[in-house]
Amino acid sequence: MAVKITDICISCDACLDECPVEAIVDNDENPTGADTYYVYADKCVECVGHNDAPACADACPTEGCIVWDETGSSSVEREDRGTVGSPVVED
Ligand code: SF4
Ligand code: SF4
Repeated sequence: MAVKITDICISCDACLDECPVEAIVDNDENPTGADTYYVYADKCVECVGHNDAPACADACPTEGCIVWDETGSSSVEREDRGTVGSPVVED
């Protein structure tokens, strides 16, 4: 499981260095070509074993930008994860 950065990302760079497993790349490296940051789902571990909550979402200033994703080969997932597509950080 993983989290996903959506198209309202403003490429502010606040999340990149917060990721403990370097799962995030910037807009220049986004493999989809979108002008947003991107989470490699096969690398993201939802911060399990690293932080009490997904650090990228905690750092992100754009409300609702980072949501729960369902794709990815990682089997790691938080027990308290939300439904797919819902914001990781609710206001
Ligand atoms: S949830 Fe954690 S592991 Fe996943 S991309 Fe965000 S900071 Fe990285
Ligand atoms: S912190 Fe949020 S708005 Fe900033 S680059 Fe990361 S996902 Fe985009």
